[in-house]
Amino acid sequence: MRKGGGATFINRFQGLLDLLFPRACPLCHLTLPQRHTGLFCLTCRQGMLPLPASHCPRCALPFASATTGPHLCATCQTSAPPFLSTHAAGLYDENLKDAIHHFKYSGGHHLDRPLATLLFETLDSIIPPDIIVPVPLHINRLRHRTYNQSLLIAREVGRLLGRPVQPEGLARVRDTRPQQGLGASQRARNLTAAFTCPAPFNGEQVLLVDDVMTTGATAIACSRTLLQHGASAVRVAILGRAPRP
Ligand SMILES: [Zn+2]
Ligand SMILES: [Zn+2]
Repeated sequence: MRKGGGATFINRFQGLLDLLFPRACPLCHLTLPQRHTGLFCLTCRQGMLPLPASHCPRCALPFASATTGPHLCATCQTSAPPFLSTHAAGLYDENLKDAIHHFKYSGGHHLDRPLATLLFETLDSIIPPDIIVPVPLHINRLRHRTYNQSLLIAREVGRLLGRPVQPEGLARVRDTRPQQGLGASQRARNLTAAFTCPAPFNGEQVLLVDDVMTTGATAIACSRTLLQHGASAVRVAILGRAPRP
């Protein structure tokens, strides 16, 4: 066969598929142009802001000054969180914020794969985790919302990384108030004894998956619980990093 013939055939086949079944942007639903390679349309993708190079590697907090490189933020310097690093698909702002809202609250569960792919693209330098664990919802909230958005993301990230997901690695044993609107210390208090591990770990390195990090209180509470129950290390993967309130 002529060199590159297979690739040409696949490109033509994909072109034919795009013509017959045009793909739509999962966020704005506009039809994507033929041979468009991205998951979102260009306009939606351009409004998803990446984490700036200037951020804290431990908690992914973006710094106001773009001139400084990665360094620990004041909070991580004075009180190191129990997780080793935080990896974010982007800033919790503009189009990514809209996409996460739609994903969580408006039945946009079809956004799991494109959002998880954005997150996966930031995980190329990570030590492959032994196991991936989502931040759990309390059963009362799960009944109301019908799906745990962090589990959907964890499943897709697990598929892309080729690593197993433990959906019940953590359990939420207290039905806490929503964290929105609470200050940093209130958020931490609100999560006291909120989580447990139904089964012990055996020295595994865990990748903890959540949708948004604001103060880090949820990731801190979950990481402590995982480490207390035998995990050897925790790294955190989130879709959106919000500035601290
Ligand atoms: Zn779009
Ligand atoms: Zn930090």
